[in-house]
Amino acid sequence: MAVTDRLPEPVHVLLSDGTTVCIRPVRPGDEGAVRRLYEEMSPENLRLRFFTISRDSARKAAERLCSRPRPGARALLAETGSEVVGLAQYEQLDGDGDGFDADVALAVADRWHHRGVGTLLLEHLVSMARVDGITAFVADALSDNRDVLKVFADLGLSVSRHFEGPEVHCRVRLAEDESYLSAVEVRGRTADVASLQALLRPRSVVVIGPGRHPGSVGRAVLRNLRGNGFTGRLYAVHPEASVILRVPTYRSVAALPQQPDLAVVAVPAASVPGVAEECGARGVRALLVLSAGLDTLQAKALLSACRRHGMRLAGPNCLGLANTEEDVRLDATFAADRPLAGTAGVAVQSGGVGIALLAGLSRLGIGVSSFVSLGDKYDVSGNDMLQWWESDRRTDLALLHLESFGNPRAFSRTARRVTRRMPVLTVDAGRTDAGRRAAASHTAAAATPTMTRQALFRQAGITATRSIAELLDTAALLHTQPPPTGRRVAVVSNAGGTGVLAADACVEAGLTVSSFTPELVERLLAALPASACATNPVDTSAAVSEDQLRDCLDVLTAHAEVDAVLVSLVPTAVATATGDDLTRAVTEAAEHPACTLAAVLPDQEASVQLLTTGAGAVPAYADPQAAARALAHAAARAQWLARPTGTVPALDRVDDHTAAAVVETYLGRETEGGWLAPRDCAALLDCYGIPQLPLAWAGTEDEAAAAAERLRLPGGAVVLKAHWPGLVHKSEEHAVRLGLRDDEQVRSAYRDFVERFAGRLDGVLVQPMAEHGIELFAGVVQDEVFGPLVLFGLGGTATEILADHAARLAPLTVEDVHDLTAAPRCAPLLHGYRGTAPVDLEGIEQLLLRLSRMAADLPQLAEADFNPVNATPSGVAVVDARVHLTPRRPHDPYLRRLR
Ligand code: ADP
Ligand code: MG
Repeated sequence: MAVTDRLPEPVHVLLSDGTTVCIRPVRPGDEGAVRRLYEEMSPENLRLRFFTISRDSARKAAERLCSRPRPGARALLAETGSEVVGLAQYEQLDGDGDGFDADVALAVADRWHHRGVGTLLLEHLVSMARVDGITAFVADALSDNRDVLKVFADLGLSVSRHFEGPEVHCRVRLAEDESYLSAVEVRGRTADVASLQALLRPRSVVVIGPGRHPGSVGRAVLRNLRGNGFTGRLYAVHPEASVILRVPTYRSVAALPQQPDLAVVAVPAASVPGVAEECGARGVRALLVLSAGLDTLQAKALLSACRRHGMRLAGPNCLGLANTEEDVRLDATFAADRPLAGTAGVAVQSGGVGIALLAGLSRLGIGVSSFVSLGDKYDVSGNDMLQWWESDRRTDLALLHLESFGNPRAFSRTARRVTRRMPVLTVDAGRTDAGRRAAASHTAAAATPTMTRQALFRQAGITATRSIAELLDTAALLHTQPPPTGRRVAVVSNAGGTGVLAADACVEAGLTVSSFTPELVERLLAALPASACATNPVDTSAAVSEDQLRDCLDVLTAHAEVDAVLVSLVPTAVATATGDDLTRAVTEAAEHPACTLAAVLPDQEASVQLLTTGAGAVPAYADPQAAARALAHAAARAQWLARPTGTVPALDRVDDHTAAAVVETYLGRETEGGWLAPRDCAALLDCYGIPQLPLAWAGTEDEAAAAAERLRLPGGAVVLKAHWPGLVHKSEEHAVRLGLRDDEQVRSAYRDFVERFAGRLDGVLVQPMAEHGIELFAGVVQDEVFGPLVLFGLGGTATEILADHAARLAPLTVEDVHDLTAAPRCAPLLHGYRGTAPVDLEGIEQLLLRLSRMAADLPQLAEADFNPVNATPSGVAVVDARVHLTPRRPHDPYLRRLR
């Protein structure tokens, strides 16, 4: 257990009111501070903690706690500055075979009660205890200790209580489940949103470093803050001036007459850490750092000042932030144009993308609720902003541009929740993987960063677009139209050729344009001019009038065969109706939002605009492909919304204790890690109930012959595979001999291996020949930040060439696994093709779920590669498995901490 003996690093975490505390293990030097915590506790608080008001037990407890570390005992404290505000500890008790109990105790300074200190300490203690193999916390409390009982009850874990006289015995089971994770999440969101108030709804702002001459970034921000009507108090700091842009200006932050909530920092990189420190000392609660070019030391100093003084930090290297709320009107950006007030939340990593999105949203009339340029993202990230928008009633659309992820697993959980409430759109930046990693196994080579990121977006229900233009096109549709309930599009045009182009674009985007039933055709013909054609696409002919078009759209939008209508209109000379008349018919149809509606106006100037009259608004695109892609995104979102929120299914026949032992034994021997030997590999798969072809190990010719006799099915053949440590691709070395029918063939194959691999051969694997089936591939790679990624696709020796596979992030839910098995191009083969029977799809899904569980349980499992997995109508079996292990400390991605 050498790796797990290391103590956790100190981390900063937000309390429920948004203040920051540091959580770290207790060290021997802490005795004074711990004693002070106990000494300053009121007699009542002391009685509840120690069951007596005598300060003697407290003194002894402090001494004991801070003496030499004792095995099985752990203690964490929460501090701000040098003040210890809370303490939580456990001591391991005797255990049964299934893990240990630990006795837990908690103390919080009087004036820090009800701010979540106790809960936070317990969350961190729980995470540490799990690594130590502890399965339950037990605690004795006085029955009138409501606070501590409430802390246990609210934790989200299952708690049993047993009252006895004046005391109550509590037992908290540490097994992590969904309800614990969501309880942690809810607390995390409350704390996060509270801490962002100072950044996004400050009551007072100071701009540090506005130049006196035009062209300075700080001056531009000050001008926007003033000119765009910030409702709070505004100050500036400048070494000489006393007024800049009519804003009262002071020599230093310390000299300000009032403590500002937010400081906007626009000074040279070298001065940033000093300014941050001054801000912290003055009680500033959030920093927006526009300055760029901080080196590593400056960056570290900036973040450390923010953490020590409990300031949230946006930037550095960013364009600024804005909140258009009427009673805030904060425009702390140096963008040229004022952001239009509206309902889109926008967070971008690149300032340039930010300017483009703000301009686009203004042009469309959607506008923004809040905007943050995240810049280098030292602290405030996309995840923070998603939580802010989730709790902000004005936001109904979230646009994110992210180049990197700090904690993708926490982000994914947040996003899954937020996408159910509002569309979350992103530009998928960096889609091409310029350099693929050279890797020993197929799984590692196939799992590219693009694939990982796209799996994240897909599983979280995020709409990932390929460009800013596509993002705005899609936002325009999602903002104005109901999501289509299916993929069936009716295309309508007043000029046949444009209708055909629009229909092609729809099909290419993955929508369907199928022919109408005679009943619908008849109804359309009755509404349209005699020259019209009412199949799909519908050609209204150029002679269509406004009323006729309206009737046609009314029929289509109300019809059960149609999920979305795409109308393409060109101005023609023959028409009695003008272009305006026709577009009016379209917007009027949108007033009954039964069906999704979009227009294509090839002659319009903007690539996308919103047509509005009265109550309705319809997006109109210059290019039918843009319209079709937006519709396809909307359909995908509707599908996502219709899907139940995912559950990770419970699995039987899982023995994670033995699995952990297999891994530890291997890493105890091979401290650098490596590939598991075939038999250990098989043992590990067995722990997770993953079906495999039977396998025997032979060290001599006679053993091989005997194993073949035992494993050969009646009338069947066997396979021999040579093995030596380090052999990865067996067939490349001609180390696989298939179809050995009798004793003589087995012996001769064995002798051939001995001859060819003399000096290397370690032994031989004997397997029965697999029944004829489809060769599939399943694998998993562990990404340091994203966690395990499960891959699935076509297997066998052609895997690399065909590269037909899909990926999803673990833990896989039931929905994820359906999605994953349906995603590769080879998926139709699984359902039976040209007379072959469908294969055991349920078996494949079980195998993937078990693989996902194995990777989620074992952080040391760097990679597993099953190729091939043989799938037949009656079952699935892994034929060839490889598992790579590396020493790695378990890491809790859901533990609350600031970066
Ligand atoms: P490697 O991937 O190291 O080259 P495999 O064990 O996957 O070695 O064998 C290579 C190929 O031989 C497999 O892709 C499969 O087509 C075939 N094969 C291997 N073992 C069996 C078996 N037991 N039954 C049928 N075919 C097999
Ligand atoms: Mg193989």
